[in-house]
Amino acid sequence: MKAILDHVGIAVRDIQEALAFYREALGLEVHAPEDVVTEHVRAHMIPVGGPSLELLEATSPDSAIATYVAKRGPGIHHVTLRVDDLPAALAQLKARGVRLVDQAPRLGAEGSLVAFIHPSAAHGVLVELKQRAALGLDLSVKRLAFGDLQLTTLHDGPFRLDGGAMFGVVPRPLWEKLAPPDDRNRIQLAMRPLLVEASWGRMLIDCGAGDKMGPKQVDIYALDRTRHLDHSLADAGLTSDSIDLALATHLHFDHFGGATAQVGGTLRPRFARARCLIRAAEWEDATHPHERNRASYLQENFVPLKEAGVVDFFPGDDQIKPGVRVVRTGGHTGQHQVVYLESGGRTAVFVADLIPTTAHLQDPWVMGYDLFPMETMAFKKRFIREAIDGEYLIFFEHDPKVAAGYIRETSGKRYVEQLL
Ligand SMILES: [Zn+2]
Ligand SMILES: [Zn+2]
Repeated sequence: MKAILDHVGIAVRDIQEALAFYREALGLEVHAPEDVVTEHVRAHMIPVGGPSLELLEATSPDSAIATYVAKRGPGIHHVTLRVDDLPAALAQLKARGVRLVDQAPRLGAEGSLVAFIHPSAAHGVLVELKQRAALGLDLSVKRLAFGDLQLTTLHDGPFRLDGGAMFGVVPRPLWEKLAPPDDRNRIQLAMRPLLVEASWGRMLIDCGAGDKMGPKQVDIYALDRTRHLDHSLADAGLTSDSIDLALATHLHFDHFGGATAQVGGTLRPRFARARCLIRAAEWEDATHPHERNRASYLQENFVPLKEAGVVDFFPGDDQIKPGVRVVRTGGHTGQHQVVYLESGGRTAVFVADLIPTTAHLQDPWVMGYDLFPMETMAFKKRFIREAIDGEYLIFFEHDPKVAAGYIRETSGKRYVEQLL
């Protein structure tokens, strides 16, 4: 395994005294601190050449850093080595019987993945292995109170799609600056289902791709299942069983593939207690695919739901629950819809594939995947004007970095002010 020194973690007792030494006496630059809330730790990074020093300050007496300092005094706490493939590194260590603190990768700072090796295996040193976040990818779980609704953006892992197909008629020199393609011309995307919690229950809007893809598809779409919807639900303190309702914007695999799971050789609804809410005409289209949309409508993603009797069909644009309303956009698929969330006098919209990323703000930047691109453009033109004027909070399902933000316009130029 190839490993590079990333940083050395130093547990400090008094951060002001530590800064007086590292910043004032040594004259080093100290980055703004980052709180790791789950660990009750505040980390201050100090770049020193390639690697960094990381000053670790406990933010609560329960913190592992507080315990460490109480027991052993301040000093070197851990050494972090960066690896390219953390799951492979852990598998290699397990195969050799190395004692690990973390059996599986967990989410570290700045969207990285980390796992600790037990100090007894590393001759008295706590070793952290770290895999950097894929370029420009942020998959952290973010919560927002929105009137009577609690909105939480989750994720079902990263994937990639062909950059040309994602931007339709727009030439590559224009889009590649906003979405740099890899060596197979694919751009980095995320799948971000949105959790809506209210007095009436917990609703998931879309649910990612799930785990049923074969190795060929996994390779084509660069599906990375290291951290997926189960992990982000756990980060939000929930499980699949916590979900009461799953609403589909449309039935493409990257939006509702996660609604079914393979359990002991049979396909079952993935959310054991949930009713699935599906637009009736979208169901008709999805179950009668043609050559042009067959690769996106995979029957195993939704047919088992109806067989299990967990689907509630609705006929058209409707108020699904207090504060949750669907509106058909067409364009991308004949029945593609967006979801309006309205509470406390504010409006948020989950726009699904109408505006898949923040790089799709210009009216003619419409995906090559869309069945009816002129319809997409007409709806989008009206909608973006409405969203700017009404200050709608927009949830971008596929953007690798921005989960939600406001679309702004100054002297004809559009941009997104990121909120989440
Ligand atoms: Zn789609
Ligand atoms: Zn999509």
